[in-house]
Amino acid sequence: MLSTGLPLAEPVVRDVPIHGNPRQVPVRQIVIHATGGPDCDPSRSFRGGSLEGIVGHFQRNRKRISIHYIIGRTGEVVRMVPETRVAFHVRGHNADSIGIELVNDGDGRDPFTEPQIEALVMLLRDLLARHQLDGAALKSHAELDDSELVCGGRRLKRKVDPGATFPWERIRAALKE
Ligand SMILES: [Zn+2]
Repeated sequence: MLSTGLPLAEPVVRDVPIHGNPRQVPVRQIVIHATGGPDCDPSRSFRGGSLEGIVGHFQRNRKRISIHYIIGRTGEVVRMVPETRVAFHVRGHNADSIGIELVNDGDGRDPFTEPQIEALVMLLRDLLARHQLDGAALKSHAELDDSELVCGGRRLKRKVDPGATFPWERIRAALKE
């Protein structure tokens, strides 16, 4: 995204369609994810990857995992599963949610970029308005999934995203403007 300082009415969106099952219930939650997270293999742990890498990952694994939107570090938004269809992004909460992945390591240290946050706010304003929701509909993946990862004898929380660097207060304040 060009950093003109001017708020754009809509984020720049590129379509890479993946079809999910038709949605049966209204959207009630918007779930924020980071692409990186814990993995038993240290070489794969907390690696956010690139926007193109993540898009390819979802295309290859579409039967198992999918997402509605991905926002890259430059603020580019990729739309995959249409909002009218269910994506597989959060255990037990897929039916009534929209999922947004942010390319980020998800380790609580990697900062989300300014263009990424601006694009997210624009997208969220649009989503909340169209689905008649307020800021309370925003959820972290971490709060909705308590499952554990067992690595040898070690147990880790499997989903911790988007992590401690995600600016919840700033986002919630921007959505009230
Ligand atoms: Zn997640």
